[in-house]
Amino acid sequence: MSFDYDLFVIGGGSGGVRAARVAAGENGAKVALAEEDRYGGTCVIRGCVPKKLMVFASEFSEMAGDAQAYGWDIQSGAFDWGIFRDKLHTELDRLEGIYRNILKNNGVESFDLRAHVVDAHTVELADGTRKTAKHILVATGGRPVVPEFPGSDLAITSNEIFHLEKLPETMLIVGGGYIACEFAGIMNGLGVKTTQFYRGAQILRGFDDEARGLISEEMCQNGIDVHLGTNVLEMEKDGDKIRVKATNGSEQLFDVVMYATGRAPNADDLGLEVLGVERGRKGEIVVDEYSQTGVPSIYAIGDVTDRVNLTPVAIREGMAFVETVFKGNPTPVDHELIPTAIFTQPEMGTVGLSEEEAAAQEPIEVYATSFKPMQKAFAGGTQRVLMKLIVSQATRKVLGCHIVAPGAGEMIQLAGIAVKMGATKEDFDRTVAVHPVMAEELVTMRQPVRTA
Ligand SMILES: Cc1cc2nc3c(=O)[nH]c(=O)nc-3n(C[C@H](O)[C@H](O)[C@H](O)COP(=O)(O)OP(=O)(O)OC[C@H]3O[C@@H](n4cnc5c(N)ncnc54)[C@H](O)[C@@H]3O)c2cc1C
Repeated sequence: MSFDYDLFVIGGGSGGVRAARVAAGENGAKVALAEEDRYGGTCVIRGCVPKKLMVFASEFSEMAGDAQAYGWDIQSGAFDWGIFRDKLHTELDRLEGIYRNILKNNGVESFDLRAHVVDAHTVELADGTRKTAKHILVATGGRPVVPEFPGSDLAITSNEIFHLEKLPETMLIVGGGYIACEFAGIMNGLGVKTTQFYRGAQILRGFDDEARGLISEEMCQNGIDVHLGTNVLEMEKDGDKIRVKATNGSEQLFDVVMYATGRAPNADDLGLEVLGVERGRKGEIVVDEYSQTGVPSIYAIGDVTDRVNLTPVAIREGMAFVETVFKGNPTPVDHELIPTAIFTQPEMGTVGLSEEEAAAQEPIEVYATSFKPMQKAFAGGTQRVLMKLIVSQATRKVLGCHIVAPGAGEMIQLAGIAVKMGATKEDFDRTVAVHPVMAEELVTMRQPVRTA
């Protein structure tokens, strides 16, 4: 049977673009890709990249004060959102161009259209044309969802925050996950009076409790008005503000309310159900370890499969798909011990099990130290950092490493290699400290603070 293409990819985000370019460029496959919005997807256009640039922008607010403490005659000025936002979008346009070119230069034919699946080997584009392919890869990502309640349509999501007309004076962020916490830090740093509601008992559920606690404390210390155990009941327009009634009995006005309480996979209206492709509890596409669905010619990678929703994971899944399908080398994706960073202020870097997860699994030793880092302490800052290792009593392996500190994302990338290699606590101890840096504590902690 002959097809128009060897591979048709639906979705031009992190996973889709990588799979398309490697299949075409390195394996000579005939590949097409459909993207309904902008190339680069969530990460480049409305996720990691613009968010990190906003983190950078927001961190300058502290620098003038710190510089003064170090003897510099320097005054902090005002932040101009308009200048930053326009520059941000110029940069995103540039990056989108790079993504388009990557596809073009690797011989991938791209269609700027929505696509859905018609049968096991056919895709229909929004203009009605149909294309056949030996393999179909669904890489359609996810989207933010706002729960329905009175006035919920007044809320924005992380998609809109990069396009604000002007910087609000007051803002409510609802949610306790990493996206909500990161934006609380960003907006606070940019000078917005920021309130955060989270219905749970502590932010950043799923991460190490001690690390979550420190981040929460520091966020409050930085001026974010964090309300735990609190949710929104209803919202209504009040002039050009939004009146928010909350479960804690409060009623407050905000200029902007952003919801970051959850994301859903983009798996609806793709025509998959009729083909018998299984969907999970959140609507995600169910795949096996090779990212293959129940229909052998259809694969799915990235956030639409709701495995580990991170850019490098979507990329890995894309590469493993190509390896499996086009190189005849079946390659499952390894989802164990993925290091990751949370760009809260302070930042967190984490890999492996939290203390709570590890203790539930086996007897452990906990090594932890929390201290005021030199740079900030000299400037009179009260911020603390945390360095923590979770060690198996039986194997001595480091099961988890949790860092809350400026630059923790950079540190955890490197510590992640050791943990992934199965390093023991004694391997950490054998490594000579780098002095004077915060991370030297990772190799100098001698006594466990507790066992569990
Ligand atoms: C605010 C925010 C911050 C984040 N920060 C980080 C971070 O710091 N680090 C990190 O690793 N991850 C981060 N992420 C997660 C990361 O962005 C995603 O895990 C990653 O983008 C997933 O890639 P993907 O290829 O699965 O999907 P996406 O990048 O979402 O790409 C999917 C693409 O498919 C297109 N599409 C959807 N349906 C169709 C259709 N029917 N036809 C044609 N095209 C379609 C969409 O328009 C989109 O471009 C963040 C996410 C958000 C929202």
